[in-house]
Amino acid sequence: MVADRPHARPKSGKIESMTDPISADARSSGVTPAPAFERVPGQVADFPIDTHMHTAFSHDSHVLLELYAAQAAQYGIGEIAITDHVDFMPGTPGYRYFDYDVRRAVIRDAAERWAGKVSIRHGVEITYESRYQDEIAEYLRQHSFDYSIGSVHAVPDSPYARDRIATFVSGKSVADAVAPYFSEVERGIRSGLFDTIGHLDQCKRWLRPWYSPADFTTIPGSYEPLLVALVENGTALEVNASGLRYPERETYPGSWVVARFRELGGQRVTVGSDAHQPTSFGFGLEEAAEIVAAAGFDRLSLERAVDRGDLVLPDRFLRR
Ligand SMILES: [Zn+2]
Ligand SMILES: [Zn+2]
Repeated sequence: MVADRPHARPKSGKIESMTDPISADARSSGVTPAPAFERVPGQVADFPIDTHMHTAFSHDSHVLLELYAAQAAQYGIGEIAITDHVDFMPGTPGYRYFDYDVRRAVIRDAAERWAGKVSIRHGVEITYESRYQDEIAEYLRQHSFDYSIGSVHAVPDSPYARDRIATFVSGKSVADAVAPYFSEVERGIRSGLFDTIGHLDQCKRWLRPWYSPADFTTIPGSYEPLLVALVENGTALEVNASGLRYPERETYPGSWVVARFRELGGQRVTVGSDAHQPTSFGFGLEEAAEIVAAAGFDRLSLERAVDRGDLVLPDRFLRR
């Protein structure tokens, strides 16, 4: 039995999640009791899937996979995709943080034990940087996953890094302020490497001191090439609910962008909480699914080009 811990460098800071709730005895007997968790307001229940979450195999989370699985069983979430970070910039905290084989074994072991209650998928969130595209492609050739998210993050030398963003934004229009982020996202989509693109406009969070979500509605022309690229190569649009936990209180991307994606012929959407803590698991997915349904989608997706009839949205979203 492989322990549900990354074989990687130790983290600093306190452990935010609890110890593994599943005892060794229970594991060896093959019985997995589901401990009770109090659902916090905003955490979804009776839902097909949460496609985006981080465990202790990510540099920025301490949550054990077992905990998400138990929450999913208790809340009635049928499927979860574990999407820990893989970064390609040497020296950054997420750079080759987990051991692929160890992590895969832990996820497959959990998937077996939870089979029939929760479907657990072996996913990944790759930090997309066009300068490392060849390395990313090679990594994905050599390491298979059930599901891959490509996401643009504020890496240390990006204009959106904490110590650079104020200088970068100074004197710029909102369209100019998003341009480097959006052009990197477009390259990520065009690479065709990923099942979906994570948090399409997460720069909203970093730009919040200067620009509100309302300001972003004034630049539909900046979004258009991204949406067209998604439609053209069949990459799914992720509606990432993590923004609902932040003061901008809006998904990445917002509802009007999801609606436009549909108008342009978009076929596939995913919804994910991007949880890094137990209280964020499934958080905001009710609202994300309402946005998706309002845009005209009746189902969610996961793997590229796989039509998942079992991911049809529950009736409560469709009878409106
Ligand atoms: Zn991300
Ligand atoms: Zn994430």
